[in-house]
Amino acid sequence: MIAVSGGGIAGLAAGLAVLRNQIPLLLVAGSTPATTLLGGIQIAPNGWEALNRLGVGDMVRAESIELDAITVRDMRSTATIASLDLRKSAYSSIARASLTRLLEAEITAIGGSKRITTNITHAVQRGPDQNWDLHIVNDDGSTFLVDALIAADGVRGFGRTYVNSLEATKLPQCINGRIAMRAVAKATDLPKSFALPFCNLWLGSGAHLVHYPINDGKDVNLVLTLDAEKVTENWQKEFLDHNDVLASLCNRNTINWANTQLPTQTYQNCWRRGRTVLAGDAAHPIPPNLAQGAGQSLVDAECLMRCLGGNNIDDALSIYAQERSEAVSKIFKKAVISSKIMALDGPRAKARNMAIGLGGTQMINEWLADVWAAA
Ligand SMILES: Cc1cc2nc3c(=O)[nH]c(=O)nc-3n(C[C@H](O)[C@H](O)[C@H](O)COP(=O)(O)OP(=O)(O)OC[C@H]3O[C@@H](n4cnc5c(N)ncnc54)[C@H](O)[C@@H]3O)c2cc1C
Repeated sequence: MIAVSGGGIAGLAAGLAVLRNQIPLLLVAGSTPATTLLGGIQIAPNGWEALNRLGVGDMVRAESIELDAITVRDMRSTATIASLDLRKSAYSSIARASLTRLLEAEITAIGGSKRITTNITHAVQRGPDQNWDLHIVNDDGSTFLVDALIAADGVRGFGRTYVNSLEATKLPQCINGRIAMRAVAKATDLPKSFALPFCNLWLGSGAHLVHYPINDGKDVNLVLTLDAEKVTENWQKEFLDHNDVLASLCNRNTINWANTQLPTQTYQNCWRRGRTVLAGDAAHPIPPNLAQGAGQSLVDAECLMRCLGGNNIDDALSIYAQERSEAVSKIFKKAVISSKIMALDGPRAKARNMAIGLGGTQMINEWLADVWAAA
């Protein structure tokens, strides 16, 4: 039996990878915070390829919205700086809650899994001289003897600290104090353009806003990224009230913004400790600027499925950890650079917008080509 910790996108996809190899699964799902299911995500071609290989592409596609373009606009002038045509790419948005529900449904349909909602607190493993002996211990006191643990329990879960021998309290909590203000608005409450099948990226001074439709176009996912210290009483007016389009988001009592600290920039290259490997944000807390965290989690799962299929457990975990840590480190670096570019303010923000305007679609395409390439 293989245990997977974490009931988010990474944990559920990894659970599916285990079951696809007819290996019994213990899913230690933890207690899911509300933000895990809030809003939507964009899935790029690499994420879709992973979903297809995991055997859930069609069912996920049925609940997603194909996006026609990523439109980059200036937050002050509203001018379109660049536009990336997505009509020939597999690129869609989906509500997190939908993707999670669909992955859970597939796990249930396959059978062979036991699901518990406790949190892993520690693991005790012995080996490899004798046979491996891995016990996981949960916060309700229950323990399980398992053959391996795939720790997909997020940035602040047990897995990341355990595999990297870190102390949880010493983990940096957010990048340069950046946070995301997230909300889901009813499309009928906003100007009609918000429901169009586009990902809209508004670049401002020290802040950027991303929005796109989810839930069949009935809802709009909104994410404004800015410095935590700038979230004062007037933050909506200061960052959104620059033009008529974005002003429609200001101070509406129908829009409930939730504040999410963005993950640390620190990339730990170590993904494996004995019979425990990391997956998802636990392995790669990627700044969300390339919209790749969940996509890479799906690729993690696809890689696990492939490795477990053709190898003994030790080789499978070793090949997985090596392949994924190498691939993700490159994407991580690009995401960090992107986050710095998007955070520029004042004259540097103006210069950035001009440079993107001059480089245009070709520059964005070149930046994203290897990020979106399937493994
Ligand atoms: C603002 C924002 C926008 C984003 N947009 C995109 C996007 O467009 N596209 C994209 O691909 N990615 C995007 N991401 C990234 C994406 O959301 C994450 O990479 C992804 O959700 C990570 O999933 P996860 O399952 O690894 O972690 P989580 O969703 O954090 O799930 C971790 C799970 O582990 C459980 N858990 C915690 N501790 C324990 C424990 N000790 N034992 C057992 N279980 C435990 C928790 O309850 C939780 O259910 C975005 C992120 C942010 C912040």
